[in-house]
Amino acid sequence: MNQNFSRTVFVLFVLAFFSLASVTWFYAGGARSEYVISPSDYHFRYIDDTPSGGDTLGTVSKSADGKGAVLACTLGERYKWPYCEIAISLTKKVQNGIDLSNYHSMVIEAAYKAPAPDQRLRVYLRNYNEEYSNTHDPVSLKFNGIEYAPTETMSEFVLPLNSFQVLSWWISDLAVPLEHAGPELDNISLIEIATGSAPIIGDHTLTIKSIRFEGLMVTEADLFRTLTFMWMSVVMIILTVKYWQSRATYRLERRRADKLKKINSSLRQQSETLSVLATTDALTGLRNRTEIYPVLNKHLKAANKQVCSALCLDLDHFKAVNDNFGHDMGDQLLVATAQILRDATSTNDIVVRWGGEEFVIFCPTRNLAQATFLAEKIRYSFENFNWPHGESMTCSVGVASTTDHNLAELIADADDALYQAKQSGRNRVEVHMAEHVGS
Ligand code: GH3
Ligand code: MG
Ligand code: MG
Repeated sequence: MNQNFSRTVFVLFVLAFFSLASVTWFYAGGARSEYVISPSDYHFRYIDDTPSGGDTLGTVSKSADGKGAVLACTLGERYKWPYCEIAISLTKKVQNGIDLSNYHSMVIEAAYKAPAPDQRLRVYLRNYNEEYSNTHDPVSLKFNGIEYAPTETMSEFVLPLNSFQVLSWWISDLAVPLEHAGPELDNISLIEIATGSAPIIGDHTLTIKSIRFEGLMVTEADLFRTLTFMWMSVVMIILTVKYWQSRATYRLERRRADKLKKINSSLRQQSETLSVLATTDALTGLRNRTEIYPVLNKHLKAANKQVCSALCLDLDHFKAVNDNFGHDMGDQLLVATAQILRDATSTNDIVVRWGGEEFVIFCPTRNLAQATFLAEKIRYSFENFNWPHGESMTCSVGVASTTDHNLAELIADADDALYQAKQSGRNRVEVHMAEHVGS
């Protein structure tokens, strides 16, 4: 459990560290991506209005340091909308353009000298899409355009790509369907930077030092969405693992508890068996005297009677049987005696082998007369029983009753009566007469 806990803490710590590191990396600019256009890697071309009948003259050349490009032209008056431009092909084939949709800005470092200040330039990102473009018609590449006014001295200008718009004449001339009327930057093969839509006739010089596209490999929203997803997944995994672990622990505990329960119940059974064995006489199967008083009291309470009685019974001249027939035969006679007593008594009576050849019959529901009747019945059974040693066998019985539920006294009284019976010649029933005995 402890090990699991530290493992969980470790996982959470790693995740927290990773989250913090990626957020720091993001805000430190680690996610920035750049796409740089330079004259050494791309083809820069000069275009003007002469094909449309204009008289503009100009060139595109490398700048003095060789790193940039210079568009220099003299706009003529002949054409209605005079222009000159620099066209940069990003790919050899127009249909295999570059995906710029993941960039957010186009940064142009340039200086622009025109006959008047604050003159604007047009910037076009031309997109090829089979839905509206074909390789034979250069005009069929979508005009994603923007106009801006560069400074006369060299400086950077950031053009947000989401500010580019599709030229309306292009949409109407090509009858472009609505779903393609918006800007598209996923297949750009051509960049055009041209003089503005209302240019002033005269000399124009545009020096482009660099063009680059800036973007983010991951957006802020993507980063936080990913981190949230990671945290939720990890927490879910941890909770699931914890759930299964606690289920397994619970099962183990339950199995252990079941096992303990089984052991307990078998121990209880064993102890019950032992206690039965301890309180049962092995020879006759009757109860013996061990812990007899609590049992008798229990029966007394259950019977709920005013009067209860007891019989003390002793075999007459039993020693002689042992002497003449052997101890085993004596035992058989004791077993037979137990059977006679069981047969004579009811389920309410409790027959106890008190010791040796002496028995006590406790009768919680019988009064003295009823107990005496039982004693006589037993004595009679003895006389008429077919004893295993082939001779007759008699018994003497003392009977007593009590109303005050003192069982030890009751048995002592019955024993006194038994003594009387023995004294009076045996094979007889004597009743203990006491002033407190009821009927
Ligand atoms: P009384 O009529 O006066 O009772 O004469 P008794 O011979 O029965 O009296 P006593 O108490 O002198 O003898 C009892 C005998 O019972 C003594 C003993 O050997 C015998 N006895 C006691 N327990 C057992 C037993 O478990 N098995 C056998 N075979 N004999 C037993
Ligand atoms: Mg005897
Ligand atoms: Mg005896």
